[in-house]
Formats: sequence, C-alpha cells, structure tokens
Amino acid sequence: MMKILNLINGQLVAPVSDTYIDNYNPSTGTIYSLIPDSDERDVENAVAAAKNAFPAWRDMPKEKRSAILIKLSDLIQRDLDKLALAESIDNGKPLWLSKSVDIPRAVSNIHFYATASLHLHDEAYSMGTVAMNYTMRTPLGIAGCISPWNLPLYLFTWKIAPALASGNCVIAKPSEITPMTAFHLAELSIEAGMPAGVLNIIHGYGHKVGAAIVSHKDIPAISFTGGTKTGEDIARVAAPMFKKISLELGGKNPNIIFADCDFEKAVQTTVRSSFSNQGEICLCGSRIFVERSIYEKFKTAFVEEVKKLKVGNPLNDENWIGAIVSKPHMEKILSYVQLAKQEGGTVICGGQQLHPEGEHANGYYIAPTVIEGLTYDCRTNQEEIFGPVVTLMPFDTEEQVLKYANSTTYGLAASVWTQHLTRAHRVVANLQSGIVWINTWLLRDLRTPFGGVKNSGVGREGGFEALKFFTEEKNVCIKL
Ligand code: NDP
Repeated sequence: MMKILNLINGQLVAPVSDTYIDNYNPSTGTIYSLIPDSDERDVENAVAAAKNAFPAWRDMPKEKRSAILIKLSDLIQRDLDKLALAESIDNGKPLWLSKSVDIPRAVSNIHFYATASLHLHDEAYSMGTVAMNYTMRTPLGIAGCISPWNLPLYLFTWKIAPALASGNCVIAKPSEITPMTAFHLAELSIEAGMPAGVLNIIHGYGHKVGAAIVSHKDIPAISFTGGTKTGEDIARVAAPMFKKISLELGGKNPNIIFADCDFEKAVQTTVRSSFSNQGEICLCGSRIFVERSIYEKFKTAFVEEVKKLKVGNPLNDENWIGAIVSKPHMEKILSYVQLAKQEGGTVICGGQQLHPEGEHANGYYIAPTVIEGLTYDCRTNQEEIFGPVVTLMPFDTEEQVLKYANSTTYGLAASVWTQHLTRAHRVVANLQSGIVWINTWLLRDLRTPFGGVKNSGVGREGGFEALKFFTEEKNVCIKL
C-alpha cells in the first residue's frame, strides 16, 4: 500500500518511529494509504534543517524567493487534475469542487503571496529636523503551520505561502485525516527548487506532531486553523512562551434573510452556503433566520431546492454532495440530528445516513438536512456541527434577529440578505462577526483581512495581514 512520507531537509523520508496510520477513503470506508505516525523526533530533525536553511533563505533577494514560489504554483496548476483527484479521494469532496475551487485556490494562494511579498514596504516617520524614524520588517525564523481537513491544500497553502514569501522557514503539519495533497506538494516543492530545509512537512497526529511543533522553543510563531477547543489548547501552551499566534477557529454562522431580499438569489445562495463541501466549510451558514412574513415561502422554496441535491460518489460529477470526511465525524453530525429532535426540532428534510449502491455503500454519506422548530439558544443552535445540517428560524424585528445571531460564542462569518442599503449597514455594524457578506456568500478577495471574533479566533489572515504576522517590526530612530 502507498506510504506517504515526510519532507525534511529537502528529502522525502519515513518517520523515525517507522510506524504508520491508516488513511481512509471516506467515499468507500476503506483504507487506501498509510500516513507517517511522526513524533517529536521528526519535528526535532525538521527544526535542525530549518535552522540551517534560514540564514540563506532570509537573505535571498525577495524576487528570487518569489520566483521559486511562482514555480511551485505553476507546478500545482500543471498537476491540477492529479491533485484534485487526490483531494477528493482523501476528503470525500466532489471532484468538480476540488477542480474548480480547492486546487485553483492553492495555486492562487501561492501566486498571490509570491507577488504580494514584493509590495510589502517599510514606513518612515519624520520628526522634522530633529530625527527620522524608519521601520524594518524581518522574518521570524521558523514558523509552525497547522491546518485542518476540510479544505486541505487550500488552507495548507494559505498559511505556508505568506510564511515562506516573507523569508521564514516552515514546519507544517496537515491534518492526519487528509494528508495526500500536502505530500504531493512536498514532491512539487523539491521540483520547484525550494532549498533544502526551507519547507518541512511532517505528517501525524495533532497530539504528537502538532503538540511538538507548538511547544518547540525554536519555533516562535504558530499559525493554526482548526477547532476552537484545539485553538484553546494551543494558546495555553504558546502564550506563556510568548509566541506569536494566529488562530482561525470554528464558527456557527448566521444567514439573515429579510423580506425585501432578492428572493431567488437568497434561496439559491443559501443552498450553496449551507451545503457546499458537505457543509464542512468554516464559513458555511448553519443558522438561517428568515423574516416571518416570508418564512413559509422561503422554507418551501429552500427545501424544494435542497431535495434536488444529489449525494454520492464524489468522483461522479452528477453528485453535488460527496462523503463526510470520516466515520467519527459522520457520527458526530448524526448525533446532532438526534439532539435537535430531543430539543423539539422537526427534521423537514434529510436527517439520515445514506448508503449509495455498490462500493460506496459503506461510505460516509449524510442527506442534506433542514431542521425547524428550535429555539435560538438550544445546543443545536449554539454548537458547531460542521456538516450538512442547517436550522430555519423565523424572526420579527432587526433587534430580535441581532440578538439571535450574536447569541453564540462564535463570530466568524455572516450573510445578510436585504435590498435596503441603510438597514444592511445598520445590521452589519451590530453583528459580532469578523466577515460579513451582503447579498452574497464566499465572495473572496485575497487582499482582505480574514478571521473571526469571540471564540472564532485571534488575529487576521489574508493580504498584508499575514505577511505582517510572519515578520517582526523594528523601529529605528536616527538623531539628525
Ligand atoms: P482540529 O482542531 O481537530 O485539527 C486541526 C489541526 O490541528 C489538525 O492538523 C490536527 O491534527 C491538529 N491538532 C490537533 N490537536 C493538536 C494539538 N494539541 N496541538 C497542535 N495541533 C493539534 O480541527 P479539524 O481538523 O477537525 O477541522 C475542523 C475545524 O476547523 C472546525 O471547527 C472548523 O470550523 C475549523 N476551521 C476554521 C477555519 C477558519 O478559517 N476559521 C477554516 C476551516 C476550518 P489531527 O488531524 O491529527 O487531529
């Protein structure tokens, strides 16, 4: 069976332990490859390689660093079909989605930061004839980048690209649930001419490899995307070590639909924002609040569209929804459907595991699920489910819907649907959320700040924010 390898010091190597973890294909429920069960010894080897590589990478002209990264993004583009297939087999997401979103976005991430880093500039503060201040930005050294399974290569590259482009060496850990495209990226980085030790990719469990990266004294910055509980664990270790930390965490995002919305667009986009990638996107809207006067009309149209969504083999382009990433995650999602029923909810469509025919019968499929009749403050409406499950709730006033929307501990993203510009601005100003879309969803410009408030995270990624995170600013004052 195929064995994935770590990338350390420019070489693809087995883990020191020489033991491996089973890698499942969630669309069939079968094991199809083996992942290194790495530990702190592999992290130690990577740190030694990165320390060695850092001075030359830091001092390399940024145009040259940029050229290596552009070559890497070109190679991902060249291998788009291969990588998209690998992503879909590993994660369960539809192949059409990997081809149109995940892999193209990995190309853009690297290309974007390869060029953005050329435009990062220092600042000067004149004190007239007395003195001149100027700032210098220098890379931090070794950056630890830890990413989740839902958008594997997309989120992995979103972290490592700004870290590398700004002159850091990187020790990165993809989720052990979806390691395959990070392994292919390792191969491509060698082909792109990335100097040995600059990018190191270590596979394995979070509590071993991830924890070893977070607690390593020679890794001064941790950029993490994943669950809120893991973010809390990381902060507990990293904060007393005074590490820089960027945490992109969970969400329980509201969609607020006013009666004066463009009805058709609101319905179509809400279907997408609810069930894209099996609902496994941190930005998916999972609580849908609809103004009471159009509640029944919206519910009927929404459910009619949801029932049309085909679920099954991710490699078949007819299917809009693929498999849930793992059996434990599928069971967690289904347990929330049971909880919703206990809390008084009515499942108006979906709610159950599906067993497509043939080799996919044992895969992890869930019918897109819509639930109504719950209160805004019940557990189903407060906790992140991270699957194809949404709730519908009517509201009467702006004040009421803001109370509902802001009631969770999260604050990542929100969508507001209204044609009333003033109301849109008023509602947005009062939403506790790092990202808000008005009359759209997931329209992204890579220059914009990305991140959440409350338990959805600390710091911002995207644009110059990420380049600033991965560099340290120094002020220099010259007496004239
Ligand atoms: P987890 O928090 O379980 O894992 C994320 C990564 O952290 C994995 O690589 C994991 O390894 C690793 N990890 C686990 N424990 C530790 C530890 N103690 N120290 C260091 N690393 C550790 O998240 P999921 O992979 O389950 O991803 C889903 C979550 O990610 C959801 O909550 C979702 O909302 C959030 N997310 C947030 C985004 C955002 O931008 N705000 C974007 C996408 C997802 P392992 O796989 O071995 O557990």
